[in-house]
Amino acid sequence: MKTLVLPPTDQSIQISAEELRKGGVVGIPTETVYGLAGNVFDEGALTKIFSVKERPTFDPLIVHVDQKTLEDLERLGVTDLKSMTPLMKSQADKLMAKFWPGPLTLVLPKNKKIPDLVTSGMNTVAVRMPKHPVALKLISVCDFPIAAPSANRFGRISPTCAQDVFEELGERISFILDGGACEVGLESSVIAIDQSGIPKLLRPGAVSIEEIQSVLGVKILFENKTGASPGQLENHYAPKKPLYLLKKSFLETEVGELAFISNTARVGVLAFFDEAPNEIQNKLRELTSGEITVKALFKDRNLENVARELFSSLRQLDTSSAEVIIAEPFPVQEGLGFAIQDRLRRASQKQVKS
Ligand code: AMP
Ligand code: MG
Repeated sequence: MKTLVLPPTDQSIQISAEELRKGGVVGIPTETVYGLAGNVFDEGALTKIFSVKERPTFDPLIVHVDQKTLEDLERLGVTDLKSMTPLMKSQADKLMAKFWPGPLTLVLPKNKKIPDLVTSGMNTVAVRMPKHPVALKLISVCDFPIAAPSANRFGRISPTCAQDVFEELGERISFILDGGACEVGLESSVIAIDQSGIPKLLRPGAVSIEEIQSVLGVKILFENKTGASPGQLENHYAPKKPLYLLKKSFLETEVGELAFISNTARVGVLAFFDEAPNEIQNKLRELTSGEITVKALFKDRNLENVARELFSSLRQLDTSSAEVIIAEPFPVQEGLGFAIQDRLRRASQKQVKS
């Protein structure tokens, strides 16, 4: 199958909508990461999403809508208002009013029209209204909600531009809508609200815990373990090369801890501390005579820039000549920093002890 990358014109949106109406799947831009879109109510399309991505069906999908009230979600056949207490509704209302359209996903009681494939058989559904104008336009032209997990092969680094989608899924899908590089670059935060209105963070993401807490006026619970939400695996977002996550900055890490670098290995470093890349180079020189690639991402101390460039930098290091990638831990744990460290932790197969 030949894969066409389409410019973000009205005509391309019509072509994509037609493909979705026929039960096909299309790579689409969102502000978080690129998605692989299919009609939420079409089981054939959903099956394609799972097979194209090689995604296990225990990992549920997020439904994307172009409306932002609970009544609209009910009318679209996504949620089930009858199963929601007033407390649950009022917390959900506050979050939708504040963060939609945007990178926040809500887990709510599901409408019976939603196929089990979307929710992995659970009685809840994850839903969000994306902000990217191309995604919104496509949903409104289609007139049905769209399931859109990230447009990569399962477990791999998430795609943040059309080219990434092409590399991941080219030959497997007919169309990729090119909406430019993702503005946010990290997946949405996933929040579940229980019947007492108590919010729980299932996946850290582009909207920070602090922001959500300030809107709801209560503390957010977060269990940082596998299984808090189905599909949140310890090993995800991973490059093909081994990625070692350090406990301290590169310069503070004992040389003995870096023994995994063999003498000939070519090494890539993802750096966040304020060290000059040539100091990192000098220290590595003692360990390897091979080529060294350093990507320093946090020089301007801007968290949003790191989020935007995290996955693409991992991708660059993965396709560089490096045989091993070393990442510094992210130095800031507040705001977006929490989600950035979550992705680094899951992307790394190996964690350096001290
Ligand atoms: P993505 O792969 O970025 O599309 O994210 C989908 C993730 O959303 C899944 O891996 C789950 O962690 C979460 N999710 C989706 N649906 C549900 C649900 N019904 N309940 C809890 N978490 C969900
Ligand atoms: Mg994903």
